[in-house]
Amino acid sequence: MKRRDFIKTASIGSVAVTSSAISTEANAKKAEHKWKMVTTWPKNFPVLGTGANLLADSITEMSGGRLKVKVYGAGELVPAFEVFDTVSRGTAEMGHGAAYYWKGKIEQAQFFSTVPFGMNATEMTAWLYHGGGMELWQETYRPFGLIPAAAGNTTVQMAGWFNREINSVKDLEGLKMRIPGLGGEVLKRAGGTPVNLPGGELFTSLKSGAIDATEWVGPYNDLAFGLYKAAKYYYYPGWHEPGTTLEAVINEKAYSSLDKDLQSIVMNACKIVNQEMVMEFTAQNQAALDTLVNKHKVDVRKLPDDVLTKLKQLSHEVVNDLAGSNPAAKKIYDSYEKFSKQVKAWHDISERIYYNVR
Ligand code: CA
Repeated sequence: MKRRDFIKTASIGSVAVTSSAISTEANAKKAEHKWKMVTTWPKNFPVLGTGANLLADSITEMSGGRLKVKVYGAGELVPAFEVFDTVSRGTAEMGHGAAYYWKGKIEQAQFFSTVPFGMNATEMTAWLYHGGGMELWQETYRPFGLIPAAAGNTTVQMAGWFNREINSVKDLEGLKMRIPGLGGEVLKRAGGTPVNLPGGELFTSLKSGAIDATEWVGPYNDLAFGLYKAAKYYYYPGWHEPGTTLEAVINEKAYSSLDKDLQSIVMNACKIVNQEMVMEFTAQNQAALDTLVNKHKVDVRKLPDDVLTKLKQLSHEVVNDLAGSNPAAKKIYDSYEKFSKQVKAWHDISERIYYNVR
């Protein structure tokens, strides 16, 4: 009996060794890929930069090192606003940023980041993945050899930092403010001057008086940039960015060269990070706001109702004009609006009522 057991064990052991050797050999034959990920964020910046790091690390780990992704912060390989072109050219295989940064190139891309007074984070993600938004986004980036993915969301932002009080619509006139995307167009119609600057340049621009106001994200990110040292008033709500989708862009040729399992890993890692950022902002924002108010004595104010009413009216004009300006924008806007109407109706009797009664 003893001898038979010994033979059995030895034979099982030997089979195991052989099969493991085969599988190692098979893995070794699979191509290894090394990708660069360029980003619009300062390296390791909380949530945005660390979210990009998490995306890269997740892909590297889930692929068992078969697809290694290395992250470059803004300015390391290319400047922040060259991410789209760099990945389109294939100089980097992947990028992380936001679609509204490319509005000078593709106006309608702005719908895939955020719309003033539009959908929030949950609603945006639902539209993209369950409402036809993603197919339209893919169609929009296809001519550039890029595949988009939602890879983060800021949730509702703050209206921003102002070095003067905003008591009426008149106070927006002549206001030079860093505000990207459609929100910038709205400010222009209100008489202000929108400028777009990468995050890393906000503090200096505001402190030096080159701009009168800036928005960035929310308390957690704004505290990290020290914006409270450059302006006195911190206004809410972030009417211009109610749930901004951050994007991953992937070079189509590089993606096609991957095995199916690696393609799935890339796309699913984006989904994980999309949710991870929402969780982190949700967990951190109030503590950061408490620090801004209690420690740094920031003057936190709500924008006056008549200012918000005016901005909302102008927002509708801006979005409708964009939709009317080209057929591609109209197609996206129609899909966005249709989804928005039905999801808002549902949220009116679920989320909204619940917020009011809890
Ligand atoms: Ca912002």
